[in-house]
Amino acid sequence: MKVSRSEFVVVGAGVFGVWIAHFLRQRGHSVTLVDAFGAGNTRSSSGDESRVIRMGYGGDTLYTRWAARSLRMWQELFHDAGQPLFIKTGVLWLGTEADAYTPQQTGSLSAEKIAHEMLSAGELASRFPQFGLDGISVGVFEPDSGVLLARRSVTAVLDDAVRSGVQYVIDAIDAPEREGVHLDHLQTRAGKEIGGEVFIFSCGAWLPQIFPNLLGKRIFPTRQEVFFFGPPPGAQQFKSPTMPVWLHHEDEVYGLPDIENRGIKIASDRHGERFDPEIGDRVVSAQGLREMREYLQRRLPVLKDAPLLESRVGQYENTSSGDFLLDRHPEIENVWLAGGGSGHGFKHGPMVGQYMAGRILDGTEPEPRFSIERKLQVQQRSVY
Ligand SMILES: Cc1cc2nc3c(=O)[nH]c(=O)nc-3n(C[C@H](O)[C@H](O)[C@H](O)COP(=O)(O)OP(=O)(O)OC[C@H]3O[C@@H](n4cnc5c(N)ncnc54)[C@H](O)[C@@H]3O)c2cc1C
Repeated sequence: MKVSRSEFVVVGAGVFGVWIAHFLRQRGHSVTLVDAFGAGNTRSSSGDESRVIRMGYGGDTLYTRWAARSLRMWQELFHDAGQPLFIKTGVLWLGTEADAYTPQQTGSLSAEKIAHEMLSAGELASRFPQFGLDGISVGVFEPDSGVLLARRSVTAVLDDAVRSGVQYVIDAIDAPEREGVHLDHLQTRAGKEIGGEVFIFSCGAWLPQIFPNLLGKRIFPTRQEVFFFGPPPGAQQFKSPTMPVWLHHEDEVYGLPDIENRGIKIASDRHGERFDPEIGDRVVSAQGLREMREYLQRRLPVLKDAPLLESRVGQYENTSSGDFLLDRHPEIENVWLAGGGSGHGFKHGPMVGQYMAGRILDGTEPEPRFSIERKLQVQQRSVY
């Protein structure tokens, strides 16, 4: 069975793939978008309920700029789709003078004209009494940042792309055979042939399996556990806007307020062990749960014995530094790679789509940090 041939074939309908398909189609090109399990599926990194969109990146202005531009594009899409999938919870950074990361972001936020407030320990205690502030001496609050309802956001972009003419196929593609420097078509596991002029692989944590020689040692998929704890009956102090999203660089923990009554969501940003996105075991560990309870005791003492309502295991698809991989395949001239979201990629979906469309269609200047050459085989994380 044949799928009609398109100019562009995008493999992987996570947040990167749907936005790439969206921008290529907007520019008037024919596009086929393929996903093994469907857009925003539970195995994908994009398939969770919620993702934080924050502007602060320490002193890293590149991602601050991208996050701000992406938020505008997300909001435009949600407005046009009539779906309010962004929740302006505000984002609170908890830090200490000793750790430059949090205070540093005021420079990049100011440079990009992003609203923020620097808060002293006293101001934190009076405005956010939910938190245990032992050892915290400084806060930065981003009032206009918040949460994207992730899975539904991916579906909203997909629906918009399909409405505008993107051909959407649910099937798994086989890794392309590495013969020659040009790819003509892909074969799906169900026996379809998908032909195109240019192929973009946005397969998240599957990229190392599809290109084992090139990416097997350059993308590091890790197991990441997520927990939802239930607040006491009637409690309002854990809901937005009373409670914001919070992040603490030194603790390597972040959390989201009780959204849609699912409970407080918390997770460690520390990289877990290596993980297979397709068959990996998605039951959280006793140790992970214990660590989260210890964290609650210290930072949200009212919730120290709160019941665990839900848990999830997802995966990061890390590059060596945490910078995205957005580049041309070094050997196959009509193949491009988009991945390496590294635990912070969701919010940037719109900018990734726009950047890839610019690179592919207009030959715009590449950002060296996104190149394949900069993706090392040893992890030295520098982006958080
Ligand atoms: C627990 C957790 C918390 C996170 N928190 C945040 C956050 O708060 N803010 C933020 O900005 N980012 C966050 N991230 C990171 C963000 O979610 C990811 O960077 C982003 O979703 C990656 O999107 P992607 O499109 O590259 O990959 P994916 O969403 O994984 O999509 C890849 C797609 O490719 C498909 N695919 C794979 N192989 C094939 C094949 N052979 N044929 C066809 N299809 C195939 C898969 O089915 C999948 O749908 C978090 C990630 C995790 C795991």
